[in-house]
Amino acid sequence: MIQLGKYSFGIGDRFEHQGEALLKAINKASEAGIHVIPVWNKSNREHHYVNTEPISTRKEADAAVASLGWNAPYLVDADHINLSNVDRFIPFCDFYTIDVASWIDKPAPPESVDAFKQACGIFGTSISVPGLEVTVQVNNELITRTADKYLSAVQEASRIYRHIEAVKGHGTFVAEISLDEVEVPQTPVDMLFILKMIADLGIPIQTIAPKFTGRFNKGVDYIGDTEKFALEFEQHLLVIDYAVKNFGLPENLKLSVHSGSDKFTIYPVMVRLLRKHDKGIHLKTAGTTWLEEVIGLALSDGDALMAVKEIYSIAYSRREELCAPYSDVIDITEAVLPSPDLVNGWTGSEFAGALRHIQEHPGYNPDFRQLIHVAYKVAAEMGPRFLSLLKENREVIGKCVEENIWERHLQRLFLPLLKSVED
Ligand SMILES: [Zn+2]
Repeated sequence: MIQLGKYSFGIGDRFEHQGEALLKAINKASEAGIHVIPVWNKSNREHHYVNTEPISTRKEADAAVASLGWNAPYLVDADHINLSNVDRFIPFCDFYTIDVASWIDKPAPPESVDAFKQACGIFGTSISVPGLEVTVQVNNELITRTADKYLSAVQEASRIYRHIEAVKGHGTFVAEISLDEVEVPQTPVDMLFILKMIADLGIPIQTIAPKFTGRFNKGVDYIGDTEKFALEFEQHLLVIDYAVKNFGLPENLKLSVHSGSDKFTIYPVMVRLLRKHDKGIHLKTAGTTWLEEVIGLALSDGDALMAVKEIYSIAYSRREELCAPYSDVIDITEAVLPSPDLVNGWTGSEFAGALRHIQEHPGYNPDFRQLIHVAYKVAAEMGPRFLSLLKENREVIGKCVEENIWERHLQRLFLPLLKSVED
């Protein structure tokens, strides 16, 4: 039975060259005393743009593990899959992020809505979740509304889960349900009923990724009301705890935060609440590594710097096309994007300073960073030329990748969860 441990970290890189650098960073956390399980995640969309197959992610993870002699668990995540594309992942993945966001608000068959209403009879007229200040008033209207919104999504998750299970076998993989790629966040009350549906359909998920309040734009920091986020995050923790105890979901069920990279502002909030309630977490941040590759290439000067300037220049001229698939998760102000002419005059360290996620750096430009974030498609189109540059400059790039994951992510989110660290 594969059971995901308390702390896990969804890492990975689009071009599959940074496996070792990523694992070295995680190994530093182990040496510091906190055991974080690496999960290599790559979505169907990323495979599509970069023209890779899921076997390559598996190979990358296995090779890094072998080369560093990593002897703790690690997993490979079929990230954001659905019924139409999961099959090609099944031989190579042992973690499945079942994305049913597009099924929200689709009507479920009336007989299953009735069955759900009956199952909710156990609640009586109110639910009090320990720690939650308000009791949830249960009535027919609330249950019907929640079923109309989420039941067909959970039913689809069940179909996908059974499909994977039929091929791989029970207990041989970790399942996550994700609902994060939508505009409207799920409330903790939504979460309570969604977990009830998941339990009733017998899907033994170990992680769940809701859409949280605030903007999770690609590559840049959290934008939103951190107090509101804190309240919601804590309520989700309490609701999950209640669902585990009362609905019979797996005991290690935990929140999964799809960060879209680098949500530094909410890391301390998460740390405080995870420590307060002694809960685990799964954090996904894979896109950040592509940005470090670009930084590493810029710092390598010569052909490598020329290539990343070219990537920017092409991305600038094709910005509408590149941004379109990410329109909900990027916010670029065109007026503050540097012109390609200006960027072409930059030194490697100027380019790196504009891109690296150090907000105090005078040259840091979050709009530039977001555009580069979605520009990996341009690098993919460069094909072997880009891949050779990654290989030739692997030392500089590897240092950037490792330092970013270790200093800006593991040290900020996971290390402070250690029991021995003082408040
Ligand atoms: Zn996601």
